[in-house]
Amino acid sequence: MPPTTVHLLGLLPEDLVAHMEAAGERCSLTEARQVLSRIISEGAADPTPRREPRRALVEAIRRQTTWERLEVLERVPDEEGKSVRYLFRSPDGALSEAVRIGLLKPDHYTVCLSSQVGCAMQCAFCATGRLGLTRNLAPWEIISAFLTVRDETPGRVNGAVFMGQGEPFHSYDAVIQTARILCNPAGGRVAKENITISTVGLVPQIRRYTRELQPYKLIISLTSTVAARRAELLPVAGRTPLAELVAAIREYATIAQDRVTVAWVVLGGVNTGDDEVEGLRAMLSDLPLRINLIDVNDGRSERDGGFRRATPAELSELLNRLQVLRVPVVRRYSVGQDKDSACGMLAGRRTASSVPSST
Ligand code: SF4
Repeated sequence: MPPTTVHLLGLLPEDLVAHMEAAGERCSLTEARQVLSRIISEGAADPTPRREPRRALVEAIRRQTTWERLEVLERVPDEEGKSVRYLFRSPDGALSEAVRIGLLKPDHYTVCLSSQVGCAMQCAFCATGRLGLTRNLAPWEIISAFLTVRDETPGRVNGAVFMGQGEPFHSYDAVIQTARILCNPAGGRVAKENITISTVGLVPQIRRYTRELQPYKLIISLTSTVAARRAELLPVAGRTPLAELVAAIREYATIAQDRVTVAWVVLGGVNTGDDEVEGLRAMLSDLPLRINLIDVNDGRSERDGGFRRATPAELSELLNRLQVLRVPVVRRYSVGQDKDSACGMLAGRRTASSVPSST
């Protein structure tokens, strides 16, 4: 790619105006919106605006930009038909994944997006964490994944969640730029409230997100309120003292005036006891809270150092204990465990049963 070439899928209209001006070509905001609408909102193969395109501008855009999408290596539907895992290859050979997930409302879908190739956070229960970090994905790569999934979906894709490979706040600028493109009228046209960013709890970035008044839904993965256990389960995020994380959560709840969603990966025999619920009560019970319980999908046996899911008895005891908090507790059901598509299972694996064409 020549040095002056930028990728259209990673741009907002104002970015395209600035890029073209820097390249010596006039481009109005209206023209930039038309170009990006064609290529992103409509998913067209060519960025030429529909109405009265200015020839000089179209030629300059062809010279100065590119709009190719990532190559799709695999599409792997699960056996229940609730999810499809996509494996993409970037021009440098990096592999990344996205998962189309069916919502409860018929014919409505969301896309689980990766923000990085691998992940540096090393969470003990996550296959991505065991890969280590290769690199951040660029906004155009994440948008490309979203568009491919959207365009192949036989229904309405009206949401996006950053819960695939990677810690979104470890690649903060790229993720926020992507979210802005996703909800731009000339971009993905996804409602802001349908974009969710999930973090393992990186305090400086939570503070920045709060200060910037970002409008997307935020989920903070806590998973343990016992400092030593949290440090073991979330080795990188757990280095920050819990008190600092709690202070950042408080600040977010106050400034964003939003209910704080706390994710809790339920690990059988590890984090379902009284000590954890007491920690939640002591730290956060005065805040407007929602707790999402997520089944662990370790993909390894306990004998291999993996975690098991909570038994029905452990789960029901945990739910009973959580009642003291008087906050909504939602059990999030993962889909796609049989095809390595569920939370914590994305590891860039190729599968023999992939579907080579659109599903
Ligand atoms: S759970 Fe999320 S943050 Fe932790 S290792 Fe996995 S992808 Fe990274």
